Amino acid sequence: MNSPVWHPFTQHGLGEPIPKVLSARGALLQTEDGRTVIDAISSWWVTTHGHCHPRIVNAIAEQAGKLDQVIFAGWTHEPAEQVAAGLRAIMPKDLARVFFSDSGSTCVEVALKMALGYWAGRGEPRHRILVMEHSYHGDTIGTMSVGARGVFNRTYEPLLFDVGRIPFPAAGAEQATLDALEAACRAGDVAALVLEPLVLGAGGMLVYSPETLARMHAICAAAGVLFIADEVMTGWGRTGTLLACEQANVLPDILCLSKGLTGGSMPLAVTMARESVYDAHLSEDRAKMLFHSSSYTANPIACAAAAANLSIWREEPVLERIATLAARQAERLEKLGRYAHFDNPRQLGTIAALDLKTDQGGYLDTLAPRLMAFFRDRDVLLRPLGNTVYVMPPYCVTEEQLAQVWDAIGEAVISF
Ligand SMILES: *Cc1c(COP(=O)(O)O)cnc(C)c1O
Repeated sequence: MNSPVWHPFTQHGLGEPIPKVLSARGALLQTEDGRTVIDAISSWWVTTHGHCHPRIVNAIAEQAGKLDQVIFAGWTHEPAEQVAAGLRAIMPKDLARVFFSDSGSTCVEVALKMALGYWAGRGEPRHRILVMEHSYHGDTIGTMSVGARGVFNRTYEPLLFDVGRIPFPAAGAEQATLDALEAACRAGDVAALVLEPLVLGAGGMLVYSPETLARMHAICAAAGVLFIADEVMTGWGRTGTLLACEQANVLPDILCLSKGLTGGSMPLAVTMARESVYDAHLSEDRAKMLFHSSSYTANPIACAAAAANLSIWREEPVLERIATLAARQAERLEKLGRYAHFDNPRQLGTIAALDLKTDQGGYLDTLAPRLMAFFRDRDVLLRPLGNTVYVMPPYCVTEEQLAQVWDAIGEAVISF
């Protein structure tokens, strides 16, 4: 097979197999070679209710035949209005404005532009961004700049802008983070802090406490520094609540949502902002508007999928499903975490992770790809981050399917 496709995060020089998926339903993928694979990472954290949820599928089909795409600068349409109203109804009340884009990276880029626009609009220009160590916010130049530096972006480093970094608040070391944040805010030039609340996904499913999140928010609020919550991964119930911020009673100034916004069916994102952020852009001077758009901003078909996702959240017992899945994950983690082969078992809502004890950490080591192949041979889609194995399935995953996933992890322990 010599496909012209150039895949993301794939070293084609290794010639590793690339299975072809023909269809999906619930937590299962059907491959061309006749396998039924359990999607234990929700197709890279996007699929929430399960693949091809009938309400989302129907909404997409209906919208596709009615209005496929229309310019969104200066025009609007019903699905976008529905999504904005639906978000206003379930997201924190103060986040009064909804700006559409099309991916997790772009909604974070928009958040950064909003933050700079906010300070420019107030006549007090600031551009310094604070970020947390080990964070991930996307793969565009701007979001790589605010993310952890490493092998993923070394080649592009000359193009990345400078940011202020505060240490990750590991258990027992929280004070160092709070002190660093306070010191950075005192400089008076900080526009915003951007972070992933409660769990750093790509950084290795690193969790920190709601108390620390609340205290970080309080420091920013006292200094007038905008607090940007990147809930691209943590949003839509992943951590047990609709938003991770809820668990810390934190109200961000700017909120980034994507991945589960359409239930994982279509690319779409929103950046929600407080009225004060919107107001700072409000003027009779066109030069002060938020200068951002992409061709497919608020694509009607993607919006119809998001509207269907919102109706699922309103009308189906989503949080109950999440609680059931979280309890099952806890049970499994408790059993496996007891093995001496594992370190640091951790869980937040539907996310469960543990580290395989090994001398060979690091993403580029062969452990993660070998583990991935091991799981693939057992019809389980898992993609370890270095030596961190995590399970993040769609909420509809059955007890039997989940057992198969964890059994494969247990088997891996013995084999590696
Ligand atoms: C996945 C992710 C992003 C980037 O989203 P894309 O849709 O892949 O661009 C940004 N932030 C966080 C926290 C993510 O997990």
